[in-house]
Amino acid sequence: MRKFLFQGLLRRPLTERAPPADDASLRELGESLARASREKLGRSLSIRHVDAGSCNGCELEIHALNNAFYDLERFGLHFVASPRHADVLLVTGPVSRNMELALRRTYDAVPDPKRVVAAGECACTGGIFGRSYASCGAISRVIPVDVNVPGCPVQPDNFMETLLYLLRQLAGAAPMIPLDHALRPKWLFGMTVHEGCDRAAFYEQSNFATEYGSRKCLVKIGCWGPVVQCNVPKRGWVGGVGGCPNVGGICIGCTMPGFPDKLMPFMDEPPGARISSTLIQPYGALIRNLRRLTNDTLNKEPKWRHNRPQRTTGYNPDKPQATYPL
Ligand code: SF4
Ligand code: SF4
Repeated sequence: MRKFLFQGLLRRPLTERAPPADDASLRELGESLARASREKLGRSLSIRHVDAGSCNGCELEIHALNNAFYDLERFGLHFVASPRHADVLLVTGPVSRNMELALRRTYDAVPDPKRVVAAGECACTGGIFGRSYASCGAISRVIPVDVNVPGCPVQPDNFMETLLYLLRQLAGAAPMIPLDHALRPKWLFGMTVHEGCDRAAFYEQSNFATEYGSRKCLVKIGCWGPVVQCNVPKRGWVGGVGGCPNVGGICIGCTMPGFPDKLMPFMDEPPGARISSTLIQPYGALIRNLRRLTNDTLNKEPKWRHNRPQRTTGYNPDKPQATYPL
């Protein structure tokens, strides 16, 4: 015990450091949003959350928005207890039959103009629960939805950014939020996982992992990244850290409307991957070998660097501009 107390006096604490102070642009964004919302809305944006039958995965990420790291309230976004005080109705989970009436009544209680945001894959499409005797499926089957922010669970930065856009839009400071056919914000879900993956160079050179723990491309052990729209490998999960394939997990396509049925079975090579990863093998082998050749020459010191008196670089001291010493 004495040893631990002594170590505690000498060692730094094992806790993470506090996030750095807000930079100027973030502060300015917060102030301009607060100003715009005060002018147009008379107050800040209020959000009423309804869990319509979620597994609580998305709730954990939404709760995180109120912690010191994300600090949602600095932008004037607040969660409220009553739907009558809300501008935005935030719904998570598929709509379980038991919650269907409660959700309709909550929607009716939110004053106009209101926005409805579905957060998480189950809210957007029904997800793993789908439609059954116990579940109505997606939120849009029960009430009109304005924006879908998918993911299993929803990525907190993506969600906060969507709320900020909505606040600007409601305040008249931004046009309609750009959405794709599945009502996902285009700037967040416009690129594939593959396009932002740290392992994409391994794919291009046909270096494929055959087991977990490898740093090579994971497509042969089940990664759906080439055909899945998600920005998580680029954005990371918390503070830019993480992002499924970047840290060794396959992408299971949790932002796609076909999730999970169309992406099953996980952990097996996706069907399309067999053709593409076979085709890329001769191309990847050629590129890999050409690069190895160039890399070999770059990895040696140039021959003209020697300590003999003659110059072998092509430099001619008889020319008038030649002023360098030997
Ligand atoms: S791990 Fe997945 S996302 Fe990354 S390069 Fe391979 S296939 Fe693409
Ligand atoms: S990378 Fe794939 S599994 Fe990870 S959050 Fe994005 S869609 Fe889901």
